[in-house]
Amino acid sequence: MKRILIYAVFLWLIMLLVPLILSRFMWERPSDAPNAASEDGRIIISLMHADTGETEKIRLDDYLTGVVTAEMPASFEPEALKAQAVAARSYTYNKYLENRASPGKIPGHNGADVCTDPGHCKAYMTLSDAREKWGARWEAAYYEKIRAAVTDTDGEVLTYDARPVNAVFHAASYGRTESSRDVWGGDLPYLKSVESPLSDAQSQITHVTLGAQEFKDAVCAAYPEASFPEEKAEWLKNVVRSEGGSVLTVQIGGVTLKGTDVRALFSLKSADFTVTASDDAVSFEVRGSGHGVGMSQYGANALAQSGYDYRAILARYYTGTEISHWE
Ligand SMILES: [Zn+2]
Repeated sequence: MKRILIYAVFLWLIMLLVPLILSRFMWERPSDAPNAASEDGRIIISLMHADTGETEKIRLDDYLTGVVTAEMPASFEPEALKAQAVAARSYTYNKYLENRASPGKIPGHNGADVCTDPGHCKAYMTLSDAREKWGARWEAAYYEKIRAAVTDTDGEVLTYDARPVNAVFHAASYGRTESSRDVWGGDLPYLKSVESPLSDAQSQITHVTLGAQEFKDAVCAAYPEASFPEEKAEWLKNVVRSEGGSVLTVQIGGVTLKGTDVRALFSLKSADFTVTASDDAVSFEVRGSGHGVGMSQYGANALAQSGYDYRAILARYYTGTEISHWE
């Protein structure tokens, strides 16, 4: 009886370990994975539409055209659009491999490689939606320009140490990008804080002002332990900034908050802000837009305007990466 039990445990362990070992093997060799379907030699991925939950098989180049359309203004420089296409393809490759390693395990994807929810994966716009939004201008110029950014970089993805990178991007940094360590805590070697230009810096400054009572109420609702003395100068103290310039922490009403929490609480465009409290108001001046990590889209456009090609733009924002091919 005892021996049967030992055999049963042994068999159970084998059943547990074999899929784990196999999934590791598939991660290393994605081209051997099942469902790596292609049509006329083109890579096919699965896309879940976040609004309906339905999944479709779609050509990678068609999907990327829809992502670049939704994620970057078509009026941007061709080299910036190409950098965007490679960043988006790298992100997709990462998700594709993840889905091959543990099929169907990406949360909220109904088994698909990527989804259309910009808060989860990348924004995506269908061709008919783009036509509806931009009309004749889309047909006349934008489609060809965006399609060229995808086809001119066909198959290109960013890798670091021969592994695909998580090529995150954001709208605009104000002078420097943020490191992944400062924003999310994961210290990825290719997501460091780097210099990032802006061609129209003033347009990337926004302001948010709240009445003193309104500010106090919002903080106390989220952080009941906060308390605010009469003296307004005491309300906000001890600002600690990251290498990229964003607020890492700030003490508000005696509570230490992360800059990203303050950003979320007051719907600020970024965590790169200065804040002042006067007698009747609290004012934020916010620089840039987005989380600040990886490629700045407005920065990429400024670099393209000054003569950088897409490879040089990507090398600027993703430290130490190389361009490899998704075969
Ligand atoms: Zn997703």
